[in-house]
Amino acid sequence: MTWSHWQVPPFFTSVFFVLGVFTFYWVSYNWIASWARTRRLKLSEETINAWYGIIYMVVFVFSIQTLVVGKSISWEFMNFQLIAIIFCAYFLKIHMPYYLLAPIMLVYMVFNGSMGYWQSWGHAVTLLTFFIVLNQVRRKFYNHRYALLLYMAVGIPFGGMLWLWMKWKFDFSWLTFWQEWLYLGIFELLLYVYVSMLSHDTELKLRLAKFASHDALTQTRNFAAYTETIEYLFGESHTSNRPLSMMMFDIDHFKHFNDTYGHAIGDEVLRQVAGTVQTVLAENDPRLELYRTGGEEFNVLFPGYDLASTQRVVNQVFMAVNHMNIHSAKTVIHVSISVGVSEIGGKDQSPLDFYNRVDHNLYHSKRNGRMQITAE
Ligand code: GH3
Ligand code: MG
Ligand code: MG
Repeated sequence: MTWSHWQVPPFFTSVFFVLGVFTFYWVSYNWIASWARTRRLKLSEETINAWYGIIYMVVFVFSIQTLVVGKSISWEFMNFQLIAIIFCAYFLKIHMPYYLLAPIMLVYMVFNGSMGYWQSWGHAVTLLTFFIVLNQVRRKFYNHRYALLLYMAVGIPFGGMLWLWMKWKFDFSWLTFWQEWLYLGIFELLLYVYVSMLSHDTELKLRLAKFASHDALTQTRNFAAYTETIEYLFGESHTSNRPLSMMMFDIDHFKHFNDTYGHAIGDEVLRQVAGTVQTVLAENDPRLELYRTGGEEFNVLFPGYDLASTQRVVNQVFMAVNHMNIHSAKTVIHVSISVGVSEIGGKDQSPLDFYNRVDHNLYHSKRNGRMQITAE
């Protein structure tokens, strides 16, 4: 069709067909991942990628086969199907036991009417072995310098064997055999390059997203991340009546460290205080995160915590920071913090009302001599 109308050889059309299948996969996967993120579903992007990837590719393999099933050219789309299978074996981080592949294969053979052909059984066993070998190569050598070579070293011979079974079954010409095998090799290479380009793009996006929500000095989340999270948690607490608490602390006499030991030591104090607090939080509950909301002012949100359970964690943070010894060239520096804590209440009309009360409690700690906790 395209050859006669546009003078485009079928090989080129099929290249763009394959790229189109993967581009659509990538776009729809990103859409689902961002949908899950905005709804804060506890699904990692890897899990979405693995499950959506398998479903997408299985649907693709079966639906393309419906176009040719039962015909003498029912091998025609095999390269497309192999590329989809290679994608699942090599590029999706799936953790499914290999024995689950057998039923998928059997269903395919029944659907394709090929149970009665010995060549099809040989093809099926070769394909299963190919999947397992390629998946193992991925697990062991994905970041290897010669990963592409290893991938091709598995892909090319297995491709040849798979096409050989089809040659025996359908008895097409050797020219067709060599041509299809060559096309498969080219598709395999293209797939590798294309997926690498797309994942490079994703990595860049993730790095930028981290950059936008994290504080580079202390490796805590930043004010923008705090604002986004408090908006969400405040709304959620109102609709579901779930408790929510907040802790805010400020390092005492921090300006004095800067003035006495220099700005670099001041930075080191900030880094070490943040690190210590993050360790205490992680030991208590991995969901608790530290936000840097000002110069030497930090914030922790406690979703699902009432005042009493929050105070238990706050006391540990307070003790840990007050017992820190920070070594500078000249001396050992001791730090202390003043803390404000509060739980969300019915009179809080906005996240700012809640924030202001915690801030007020912090201010109360400062005014009353510092190094203390005010919670109410
Ligand atoms: P208080 O006990 O009342 O909190 O006194 P303080 O000295 O800690 O408070 P103040 O607000 O007067 O000083 C905070 C200082 O923190 C002023 C500012 O120069 C310093 N600062 C803010 N951000 C940074 C930073 O990233 N690195 C360093 N080294 N200093 C910072
Ligand atoms: Mg301070
Ligand atoms: Mg301050």
